[in-house]
Amino acid sequence: MIKDIIYRPYWWDAWEPSLLAAEDVDRDCDVVIVGAGYAGLSAALTLARAGRSVQIFDAGIPGFGASTRNGGIGSGNLRPSIPNLIKKFGPKRATEMFGESCVARSDLIRFIDEENIDCQFTLSGRFAGACQPQHFVGLERTTELLNQNFSIGATMVPKTDQHAEIGTEFYHGGMIRPDIGGLHPALFYKGILERTLQSGAKVHGQRAVKGLRRTETGFEVMTGSVTVCARDVIVCTNGYTDKSIPWLRRRLVPVASQILVTKPLEPGLMARLMPKRRMLTETRLMGHYYRPTPDGKRILFGGRTYGNHKRDQPIPYQHLYDDLVELFPELGGIGISHVWWGFVAFTMDHLPQLAKRDGIYYATGFAGSGTVWARWFGLKAAYQIIGGKEGASAFSDRIFKAVPFYEGRPWFLPAVQAWYSIRDKFGV
Ligand SMILES: Cc1cc2nc3c(=O)[nH]c(=O)nc-3n(C[C@H](O)[C@H](O)[C@H](O)COP(=O)(O)OP(=O)(O)OC[C@H]3O[C@@H](n4cnc5c(N)ncnc54)[C@H](O)[C@@H]3O)c2cc1C
Repeated sequence: MIKDIIYRPYWWDAWEPSLLAAEDVDRDCDVVIVGAGYAGLSAALTLARAGRSVQIFDAGIPGFGASTRNGGIGSGNLRPSIPNLIKKFGPKRATEMFGESCVARSDLIRFIDEENIDCQFTLSGRFAGACQPQHFVGLERTTELLNQNFSIGATMVPKTDQHAEIGTEFYHGGMIRPDIGGLHPALFYKGILERTLQSGAKVHGQRAVKGLRRTETGFEVMTGSVTVCARDVIVCTNGYTDKSIPWLRRRLVPVASQILVTKPLEPGLMARLMPKRRMLTETRLMGHYYRPTPDGKRILFGGRTYGNHKRDQPIPYQHLYDDLVELFPELGGIGISHVWWGFVAFTMDHLPQLAKRDGIYYATGFAGSGTVWARWFGLKAAYQIIGGKEGASAFSDRIFKAVPFYEGRPWFLPAVQAWYSIRDKFGV
């Protein structure tokens, strides 16, 4: 059943990241950006269009990180619930944070539209399945808050009506968010990359930044045998942050997220399992995110995987397949065409960070929801450098805590994930 699989992102069938034509590295520029994912490109595009000289350095092939291998679900999710955000930050700041997620999400749609990026975006809406009866009650409370404070138009679907949304008995009903859609992540990346290059920013691939040193006028950026002087630096390395950025590495936990894609399914089966072609998620701690592929013919199914993993090594996916079949028993024995994985990054409080420390900007910690957030924080970091009110964000000026007893290798992850799974199993 699991054979003939291609171990690379399904999205790369449409557009695959490749090394760009080599360009000379400028010894001086206004801004250096470390990392060429959505965040780095978005920052570079904004700065270059504002007349700044910009260079991005990426350790690998630009686009090889999470930004072309994600699920393409444009949720702009914040992991803590609204009640928990209010408890922690008070109603004003919590409302600002959540409000910013709404603005960031709609700004992504505006950007795709205005830039005319052909990335198969559809405002499909998202269904979130309640894995326990008490989760349904929690979703009801969230729906109320969302509609009261942000006029989102979220609605609840009781279990009795669930089949209109999704062909499973697994959930105890769920919630629909009409403001969330999906895109083709690699085509979206291609679109921003092309516009970034057209803007005059230089994107250097296979050029890792090995160190950053503060000077009187800005920074020295060490990359290979070359040292570049820049007035400002933005670090956008997220789940791929390495030892060269030790301050950030102590504050981010990289977690492997894995996706499989089925072979094409019968149109009738697709219509039964995903009748509205929505984006899909669920309320478990070790939950899944899934969706139809943009052509509506296959199911893309993702989830966080257990344990620590080394970059570029294949990891087992049978558990993901079993979870897919548990959800949709009709898929038992179905063929899988593609499997891959990549790193997402979590901060201590599971909220994204737009930080500035010792003059360096950091846009990071998107907790698996960077399609909206990474682009947005790249934009915000750029505006903070340019100056003016567009740089303001509810996520700036927060304490960015280091993870205790941690240098960048998350030894505790298997235990944390096992604990989450126990809580999921017993519904606590
Ligand atoms: C399997 C998977 C599924 C996902 N699904 C979704 C989803 O459905 N919806 C959603 O919103 N988000 C999803 N995400 C998360 C989303 O893809 C990321 O949050 C987002 O792409 C992060 O973008 P970024 O620009 O911050 O980092 P990345 O795209 O990860 O880029 C970081 C870059 O930094 C470079 N780098 C690291 N160190 C250095 C160095 N020292 N010098 C130079 N370069 C360096 C790396 O080479 C890499 O290219 C998913 C992620 C994965 C892996």
